[in-house]
Amino acid sequence: MSQLSQVLREMISQEGPISVERYMALALGHPTHGYYMSREPFGAAGDFTTAPEISQMFGELIGLWAAEVWSQMGAPAAIRLVEIGPGRGTLMADALRAARVAPAFRAALSVHLVETSPLLSERQRAALADAGVPVFWHTSPADVPQGPAIFLANEFFDALPVRQFVRTQAGWCERMVGLDPAGHFVFGLSSEPEPYLSAEAPVGALLEVGAEGQRTMTALSARIMAQGGALLAIDYGHTRTDLGETLQAVRDHRYADPLENPGEADLTTHVDFAALGRAAKSTGCAVHGPVTQGAFLNQLGLAQRALALAKRAAPEQVGAIEAAVRRLAGPGPIDGPDASMGELFKAIAVSRRDLGPLPGFSEEPLA
Ligand code: SAH
Repeated sequence: MSQLSQVLREMISQEGPISVERYMALALGHPTHGYYMSREPFGAAGDFTTAPEISQMFGELIGLWAAEVWSQMGAPAAIRLVEIGPGRGTLMADALRAARVAPAFRAALSVHLVETSPLLSERQRAALADAGVPVFWHTSPADVPQGPAIFLANEFFDALPVRQFVRTQAGWCERMVGLDPAGHFVFGLSSEPEPYLSAEAPVGALLEVGAEGQRTMTALSARIMAQGGALLAIDYGHTRTDLGETLQAVRDHRYADPLENPGEADLTTHVDFAALGRAAKSTGCAVHGPVTQGAFLNQLGLAQRALALAKRAAPEQVGAIEAAVRRLAGPGPIDGPDASMGELFKAIAVSRRDLGPLPGFSEEPLA
């Protein structure tokens, strides 16, 4: 039994069932036993692999994207480059290296990493030791000092807790986690329906509401409106708000039961890009995309970047570079031997309206 299981069992025995949102928040972020607090989840030895860990090209293209956005902003003398949920710091290290081609941008930069995990903050410190720009750490985006800023978030929104509601005869009841007589975690429902939810749906339908993600997006967009800048978020998810459960647990590169051993598996949900877009628009910002990760990276010049890398690579590395291109941007399923992130993953950006079109987003937004 995981240590967190014991903590949650005691909590539920004393206070009664907790919401799925609270369960997810504790499973990931409990100060000592939370998944991100206690381990390094990425890579072959970890539980899952993210785009920056697949290839340096991902972070490099995003670094060039940020330099271009800064230039569209009128090249302000000071710009904060902020990454939320930076993992091992790989994306930022690759982005800063690529940005060497834009020395004026690098000279204007201060880097701000928003991270809740002390362990991952240490990894980021090591990855950025030679970055050559000032780097600061914060535990909340609200702590990033005022001023124009470019925000990056890769696989951050999928890690934020969601509320789940189930349609009953009486209305939408919140899904809770309780204990069965044997002491195992089980799903249940709140006794009173949620008075603010009125969407029509058949009895039994499930609705996920990413309230924390929407609050975060609203706050960052409001800041961009007031102080200038842009935000780029890349994640897996859907482009329309829809019914259905997407909460999933992944451990050791395999799906697991979300209620089994909380704290030892990654818990995520698919991001509702439509809801994030609405949150951003509510502040007056322009929303770019969502477009597929494949379309975004291809427009930024993934193929050219791969060719340039391959020219300098040893012959035996060329195959790996081509495989990375397919994995990052190719079509196809997310699982299996030909797994690819190109379609399920989406990119969305937010900016003030006066910034104009942003690089990577000239394709029609996905409906
Ligand atoms: N962007 C990285 C890591 C993705 S995993 C990559 O692509 O490889 C999610 C990251 O978000 C981890 O660094 C995790 O510690 C961080 N995180 C999760 N919840 C957070 C929160 N509420 N605030 C800040 N960071 C958070």
